[in-house]
Amino acid sequence: MVTISDFAHMTAVEAVTQAIEKARSHTDFNAILSLNEERALERAVRIDKGEFTGRLAGIPFIAKDNFLTIGGTTTAASTMLQAFEAPLQSTAIEKLEAEGAICIGKANLDAFAHGGSTENSAFGPTKNAIDLTRVAGGSSGGSAVAVALGIVPFALGTDTGGSIRQPASFNGVIGVKPTYGMVSRFGVVSMASSTDTIGVLSSTTNDAELVMDIMSGQDSRDGTTLPDYFTPTTLETGLRIGVVSEAMTGSVDDDVRRAVNNSVEAMAKAGHTVERVSLSMLKYALGIYYIVVPAEISSNLGRYDGIRYGTRAQSESLTEVYGLSRDKGFMPENKRRIMIGSYVLSSGFFDAYYLKAQKARTLLINALNELFDQYDVLVMPVAPTPAFRLGENTNDPVQMYLADIMTVPASLAGMPALSIPTGTSDTGLPIGVQLIGKRKSDALLLALAKQLEEKR
Ligand code: GLN
Repeated sequence: MVTISDFAHMTAVEAVTQAIEKARSHTDFNAILSLNEERALERAVRIDKGEFTGRLAGIPFIAKDNFLTIGGTTTAASTMLQAFEAPLQSTAIEKLEAEGAICIGKANLDAFAHGGSTENSAFGPTKNAIDLTRVAGGSSGGSAVAVALGIVPFALGTDTGGSIRQPASFNGVIGVKPTYGMVSRFGVVSMASSTDTIGVLSSTTNDAELVMDIMSGQDSRDGTTLPDYFTPTTLETGLRIGVVSEAMTGSVDDDVRRAVNNSVEAMAKAGHTVERVSLSMLKYALGIYYIVVPAEISSNLGRYDGIRYGTRAQSESLTEVYGLSRDKGFMPENKRRIMIGSYVLSSGFFDAYYLKAQKARTLLINALNELFDQYDVLVMPVAPTPAFRLGENTNDPVQMYLADIMTVPASLAGMPALSIPTGTSDTGLPIGVQLIGKRKSDALLLALAKQLEEKR
């Protein structure tokens, strides 16, 4: 893997050229959907001439292909947006570019970020960086693999229910999901507006911290953003850490429990107070998530009708144009979620599903807040297993959804969470541990992650 400082001694042109060459030599993984060499080199030349500078001057990075970028396409890994050239750039990317960073290309994902394996991409699955027969995780699978292969020091991802943390865990990199509202969502393809977040995947905690620092802050174009509160910090005293018992039961893979326990021991050795805690609402989190999120998806995806956005199918009848465009443009998983979402929002079922799920969501948030009255950080696995085999869960959506059990609580509660590598399975597959904090405690989580990274 590479870090930001590895590129510091190179010219911007050298850095970009190296990253692009590396990307081209790793096509087996299908991590990258498009490279934007022309624009990247043009920016690199200007940086080398001293036309502009910044904290990331000349540092190449990759963005998940649901971030709108200028030059090239933004496909969200869908046929619907296969040819879509964005008229503007997402705020997150604008902020990184203002510091001199260079976006060299776009990473693969599950179409519209619906999924946890990057197998739902219209352009084929991304393969795990450590084992080509296994999934990259998802939906930010391409971003995780690009970092794990050392193509770029960091890549951007989105996390609505685990899409940064889970692929980070599966590929042995760091993945940071911020507090909801810390980073502007403007210019990123919406999935579920109440849990969508923008974050980073990187090889070191320091690099993740720097990128989050740059991206954070209020944006008039995203009314849910918070005034900038993020200030990198270090740990002065021991923290109160709770390990969630319900997430460490026999249904979790032995290798995962062992790896998580190792990092729990490291936390205790570092002087933190570590205790087992109970979160009995955990068993409802997945049910809540898979009602609320499809409901929001069904509304957000309504805009892709083949008229305003998306690839337009040909027909004499307007209704058929809508129907055919959507039929061709969406993957089966996208359609499944639109249908579930429309169903739970329909009159007659709204009270039984959507309303009940929102009430249960409040109870889950209350339960988490109560734990955070006593603890600074909660610890859980990121996923019940290491990376599964390609194709293993593709015919069983519920099995695929079950892999999200540990990551959806923080998403539903808008709380920050991150995944850091903590070991490997018997067969050498990476395993991450998840740290969850109360809202706006992003800097504290990163400080703890940094301390654990130094102790490894
Ligand atoms: N795997 C989860 C899902 O399928 C999370 C997706 C995401 O965070 N974008 O919804």
